[in-house]
Amino acid sequence: MLFDSHAHVDGPEFDADREDVLARARAAGVERIVVIGAVGDTTSAERSVALAEKDPNIWATVATHPHDVEKMTPEWWAVHERLAPHPRVVAIGETGLDYYYDHSPHQVQRDAFARFIELAHRVNKPVVCHIRDADKVPKGAHEDARRILKEGRALDLGVVIHCFTGTPDDARAYAELGCYVSFSGIVTYKSAQPLRDSVPLVPRDRLLIETDCPYLSPIPKRGKRNEPGFIVHTAEQVALSAGMSFEQLAQQTAENAARVFKISAA
Ligand SMILES: [Zn+2]
Ligand SMILES: [Zn+2]
Repeated sequence: MLFDSHAHVDGPEFDADREDVLARARAAGVERIVVIGAVGDTTSAERSVALAEKDPNIWATVATHPHDVEKMTPEWWAVHERLAPHPRVVAIGETGLDYYYDHSPHQVQRDAFARFIELAHRVNKPVVCHIRDADKVPKGAHEDARRILKEGRALDLGVVIHCFTGTPDDARAYAELGCYVSFSGIVTYKSAQPLRDSVPLVPRDRLLIETDCPYLSPIPKRGKRNEPGFIVHTAEQVALSAGMSFEQLAQQTAENAARVFKISAA
């Protein structure tokens, strides 16, 4: 069984063929998917919860992506507070810091991140984090994130660093805090040797895999719209980098996802 721990199948990219996409995922062995309701405005959260309500193998998260937090209104926060306790919502996220695109000011991102961690405490659910730093001259996104996670006692709740793109040192630092570290299709890209080097630094019981679809298709699907079924290619690479068989890696990452998201065994 494969578990796609981070997918945006609620998005309009899948409106034309969502049922086919989910059927292909099942055919590829992807039995469970967490849909991330956090892109753009609150309709993403509403759509994700609706998907999770009608499919027993889909769960949802709610939050607002760091790109968009500058636009958040009190009404917008109220939607998240209403949806967060929903039984099909398994985490608060994706929230965090994106110093690569800088779509929202850093302080606004940090404040929203801390506030989403408070919301996670109120509903006792883990936090899914999007942490991305600038490429050439890092601006301290990972250091800021670790500080905010510690100050907010988020580690008590369970923390997922989704689509990990830091250095091997960052992977080690997150692992030492007890975070789960999730690898996306980027790990298959030629330039991503630091990510492949990071995989064995994450304890096996903290490894996750994800598609982050429709973005970041793994090789050999790169350039196409990504979908949960393509996680097979990411799993193959992560298994190789971790020194595990494909079956071991699939089982381990599915168990890890079920543990952090508090989903009972099938
Ligand atoms: Zn993200
Ligand atoms: Zn995402």
